[in-house]
Amino acid sequence: MSFVNRLLKASLPFTPKFIVRFFAKRYVAGASLEDAVRTVNRLMGEGCCATIDVLGEAVRNPQLASQAVAAYREVLATITERKLTANISVKPTQMGLGIGEELALANLRQVVAEAARLGIFVRIDMEDATTTDATLRIYKTLREEYSNLGVVLQARLRRTLADAKKLGNEGTNVRLCKGIYLEPRTIAYEEPDIIRWAFVHALEALFAGNGYVAVATHDEWLIEQTLALAEKMQVPQERFEFQMLLGVDPALRRILVNAGHKLRVYVPFGSHWYPYSVRRLRENPNIIRAGLEAFFRRRLEA
Ligand SMILES: Cc1cc2nc3c(=O)[nH]c(=O)nc-3n(C[C@H](O)[C@H](O)[C@H](O)COP(=O)(O)OP(=O)(O)OC[C@H]3O[C@@H](n4cnc5c(N)ncnc54)[C@H](O)[C@@H]3O)c2cc1C
Repeated sequence: MSFVNRLLKASLPFTPKFIVRFFAKRYVAGASLEDAVRTVNRLMGEGCCATIDVLGEAVRNPQLASQAVAAYREVLATITERKLTANISVKPTQMGLGIGEELALANLRQVVAEAARLGIFVRIDMEDATTTDATLRIYKTLREEYSNLGVVLQARLRRTLADAKKLGNEGTNVRLCKGIYLEPRTIAYEEPDIIRWAFVHALEALFAGNGYVAVATHDEWLIEQTLALAEKMQVPQERFEFQMLLGVDPALRRILVNAGHKLRVYVPFGSHWYPYSVRRLRENPNIIRAGLEAFFRRRLEA
């Protein structure tokens, strides 16, 4: 990563919120559920499906966790009423995991039960490594009660190959991603190429099992590896899909859809946009750099 990009990344926590919002608006559908519905309809027109995320995390107040449950109920009702080809993604700390595992379990159970009633799938997002064990425990408990449920594994973590073998054999629906949270070297790989290979190995373990796999990446090398592996292991198209984030590489999205692959876009919305946006910009400071360059070019040309 260039010096300028490292500098942009390091200065993000001190950047005024309105600037972060300006650069990050491509990653978020908007503040309201209606904004998310509009985005999902547009994506459906492009041949994609969606997973809707109500932005929010690190909740420390049980009342806020209950509000998040209510917000997801509204999303589920809207998916049904507006006939959206969409499911939902939920963060455990938004359901109160930071307050207590029992609370998060109880809140998530309400969301999953309502989704099951409406025939909608729920993905439990994976957050930083301090939450991995609890998230997998909550997943396991709820999976014994409901089948409309899946979880996420992060290739970055050293434990993931073992988790993938286990969950793959249990027929779990797993989203595999690189992992956005930077973790200590003792528990996570740091080199981009090692993370890529760890992704491939975890994917192989999941394909060898009998579950469904959501391959969440914009990395074309990994997409190529996925297709090659699926062909080699004779994994049918019905057993996997690709997933991408809203605002990232729409051209690649179109290439995959035109090639006949199932493509789901992660559509976050809501007022708690800040932590998610900072993570996305940290991941790709080129976005800020390109924006600043265009801004100053316009000023010089004026
Ligand atoms: C649907 C979905 C759900 C996810 N859920 C989780 C989760 O539950 N837990 C978790 O830890 N992580 C999650 N992630 C994030 C993931 O772990 C990665 O951080 C993110 O996808 C970037 O990794 P990559 O595989 O695309 O590879 P990268 O090497 O980071 O990116 C490949 C290329 O994609 C483009 N790109 C990537 N990110 C951006 C960006 N922000 N802005 C513009 N271009 C970009 C660039 O062209 C880059 O060269 C999710 C990702 C997706 C797609």
